[in-house]
Amino acid sequence: MIDRRLTQQQRIKGKEIKADPQRHLIYSMERTFVGSVVGSGTRLQVLEDVVAHACREWRVPAPTIGVEKRKRVYGACTESEIRLNPDYDGMTMGVVLHELAHWITDRKYGHLDLEDHGEYFAGVYRYLLDRYNFFPSIAFDALAKQFGVMAYHGVIPSGD
Ligand SMILES: [Zn+2]
Repeated sequence: MIDRRLTQQQRIKGKEIKADPQRHLIYSMERTFVGSVVGSGTRLQVLEDVVAHACREWRVPAPTIGVEKRKRVYGACTESEIRLNPDYDGMTMGVVLHELAHWITDRKYGHLDLEDHGEYFAGVYRYLLDRYNFFPSIAFDALAKQFGVMAYHGVIPSGD
């Protein structure tokens, strides 16, 4: 879903770019369900509320949500913020949940997930899609099998 060049630029961890063999599988899989919201902008406040809620649940600091208009870029996750492109369908739940999965994975499983779109990322993404009633886990699992995406199901928010 996310532009490859920006993803690489933005997601350098201060050292080298991670190998990310599962990325294109995730993108292909997303095209089968993200289309339902891509194209319909969601109010920024709604997206901020979801991000704030998830960060409380996962006990990670909340990112700033910024707007960035770049060609062919839906959104990006940097060290400090989630950026959304209002001109490119970025103001949508699907994009926010994808970037939010990066944000949470980096903080909770960054030491374990050696790929940007690895199985911990996919597991957190799967959880968030279901948690916020965007796409049910049971359907995610069927698609993951079809597309060959590995998702770790053991991810759970810490806390209450
Ligand atoms: Zn991504």
